[in-house]
Amino acid sequence: MHAFSSLSDLNQGLTRGDFSSVELTKACLERIRANEALNSFITVAEERALAQAQAADKRRAAGEATALTGVPLAHKDIFCTTGVPTTCGSRMLANFIAPYDATVVSKLDAAGAVTVGKTNMDEFAMGSSNENSYFGPVANPWNTTLVPGGSSGGSATAVAAGLVPLATGTDTGGSIRQPAAFCGVSGLKPTYGRVSRYGMVAFASSLDQGGLFARSASDLALALAYMAGFDPLDSTSADQPDPWLDDIPLSGLNTPEQAPVIGLPAEYFAGLKVGGAQMEEARKTLEARGCKFREISLPHTTSAIPAYYIIAGAEASTNLSRYDGVRFGHRCEDPGSLEDLYCRSRSEGFGKEVKRRILTGTYALSVGYFDAYYLKAQKLRRLIQQDFLSAFESVDLILTPTTPDVAFPRGKLTDDPVAMYQQDIFTTPASLAGLPALSLPCGFQQGLPLGLQLIGPHFSERLLCEAGFLYQRETDWHERHPEGF
Ligand code: GLN
Repeated sequence: MHAFSSLSDLNQGLTRGDFSSVELTKACLERIRANEALNSFITVAEERALAQAQAADKRRAAGEATALTGVPLAHKDIFCTTGVPTTCGSRMLANFIAPYDATVVSKLDAAGAVTVGKTNMDEFAMGSSNENSYFGPVANPWNTTLVPGGSSGGSATAVAAGLVPLATGTDTGGSIRQPAAFCGVSGLKPTYGRVSRYGMVAFASSLDQGGLFARSASDLALALAYMAGFDPLDSTSADQPDPWLDDIPLSGLNTPEQAPVIGLPAEYFAGLKVGGAQMEEARKTLEARGCKFREISLPHTTSAIPAYYIIAGAEASTNLSRYDGVRFGHRCEDPGSLEDLYCRSRSEGFGKEVKRRILTGTYALSVGYFDAYYLKAQKLRRLIQQDFLSAFESVDLILTPTTPDVAFPRGKLTDDPVAMYQQDIFTTPASLAGLPALSLPCGFQQGLPLGLQLIGPHFSERLLCEAGFLYQRETDWHERHPEGF
């Protein structure tokens, strides 16, 4: 068993009896311990993991295994787990143990996967660098002085450093794709509604979507098969059965039946400082496999960041109002009055960036400013979505860089929130439109990984993953891993 094995290799090894799930899980736990300095985990769930691994070995022996039975994975600490804390990277929830499991957690548990722990993240998933975690920053394994991206930085790092072969994440405006790009791993943000949000701590409910980090598009597709699906417990969950997903565990991922026509949006390439050459190479690789390219325009792209930060902030301000120090979460010592209890509990429990979002979001929703900010942002959101829908009349997929730059040094952007927000320029548009998107490693710039992004129409995960598979069959960027891991 190898720290960088694919899910299907691990499944084969377990099936053949080359190693047991207990052995595999112990090896993962050991690697996690040896790499504590990365700070990619908030909680390591050793006991729970070993119990699950033992159960998985029994299930295999009984011939009832799925492709994930006995395979270790990590959950972003935003997914509720019974018996193990769910902190969401915040002091507010530092001691919170959820009374129920998130649907994502129970589905992957039901498949027999082994949860080794909960990964570090920006507080309440707000951030692009993982520097906003109450539990400290996460280091990028390619260069530990750099950020891993955010907000799912712990999950991205854990996969990149070979601590786990699979990790969950959430993506509201880029939180899977951007850290996947910065850490040189594959990441999938499914269509809004594809994966249940039940038990996933809410940040911006109209944008939040659970997804995955893994080593390849095929691993992503395989794990998605066990994670996606309609959930009556999430009112925005899509009742959209997909026979392709049901078949993946048996048939595996294929290349697309017909090579897709891929759009290159001019707005994403204009003035690109980093990654131009790698994107050009990716285009050539796909062209050689029969894909056709077309230049397209998504004219409202530049409005995505302002629209996203208004809408996400507004939704965050209402979602986070539940943390009042009364029902659950941090409570201040010796409150003098109810108002004092609210004020101090929230002041102590939330970090700086979360407070910034609550303040700007509340402002955007306030009576005098609602039309000028929130309503305007919603109109822009519709235009951005319309841009994509028009583009998909002439192309099957859209190819863009995932990020405008490679991973940056810790501390570089912490005093400049707007510059930090600009990091999400290429990821927020697909989020606002609710579209699925994939980030795949596509090369290096001065030794640091770069990611390409493929965006597809709603519920086109099949084509996205198949196109990703096509690309990864021709390249080996996804097989590289940082030195020393
Ligand atoms: N970086 C973005 C933000 O800070 C996106 C976060 C996310 O997708 N959760 O809001």
